[in-house]
Amino acid sequence: MRKKIVAGNWKMNTSVQEGIELAKAVAAKAGEIPAGVELIVAPPFTHLVSVAEALKGSKVALSAQNCADKEKGAYTGEVSADMLVSAGCAYTILGHSERRQYYGETDAKLVDKVRLALDKGLKVILCVGENLDEREAGRHFDVVSSQTKAVLYNFSAEELKNIVIAYEPVWAIGTGKTATAEQAEEIHACIRKVLADKFGAQAADDTTILYGGSCKPSNAKELFAQPDIDGGLIGGAALKADDFIAIALSF
Ligand code: PEP
Repeated sequence: MRKKIVAGNWKMNTSVQEGIELAKAVAAKAGEIPAGVELIVAPPFTHLVSVAEALKGSKVALSAQNCADKEKGAYTGEVSADMLVSAGCAYTILGHSERRQYYGETDAKLVDKVRLALDKGLKVILCVGENLDEREAGRHFDVVSSQTKAVLYNFSAEELKNIVIAYEPVWAIGTGKTATAEQAEEIHACIRKVLADKFGAQAADDTTILYGGSCKPSNAKELFAQPDIDGGLIGGAALKADDFIAIALSF
């Protein structure tokens, strides 16, 4: 049975002190979440060590929002996979559409990042998703399939066990426009088929695929009820502990 996950992507929000408070508030309520659901928070790099401390003893896992495509050395401003592990991260998000859009993150670069993250013992939450033009042109299945193949077909079924996929339609991120449960489900099923074609039905069936894009307490239940939606990657609503926990209680 694949794992259910609700992950909070805090993006570039909160001071360190606010982040610690938010993490403590999430940790305090994490006991209410059913045993089969994993909670993850992804604060900015500057917060990781302090948030790791705040989460100690709770069942909330720590993720970064990105990591370097190089192992170590003269790469000013970068943060390596080893550093994330030493800060207490179990996961890193990679390939978020904001990184693809504003920081030129390509599928080729993502292959290097995923490789390093996995080699260093991190699990990866890999984001894929089409933009509005691509959706309106009816290219959403093609775009998401190609993004998935371009990165994941470089890895083995064994490595896939440490990779979670997040389908995040770019037009739904931070816009208040959620994909309908049907729109999300058909893409999730398509991603699972893309995985099955390369890694086999069992590996595809075991992979957790999250939905992200204006997911909130009022729509999480319907989304999570879909057979191929295994949870959410949550942006705005993850900045309020009560909303984040309410989403995680929506299975
Ligand atoms: C995200 O960027 O990962 C996201 C899902 O954001 P929001 O929930 O705010 O749309």
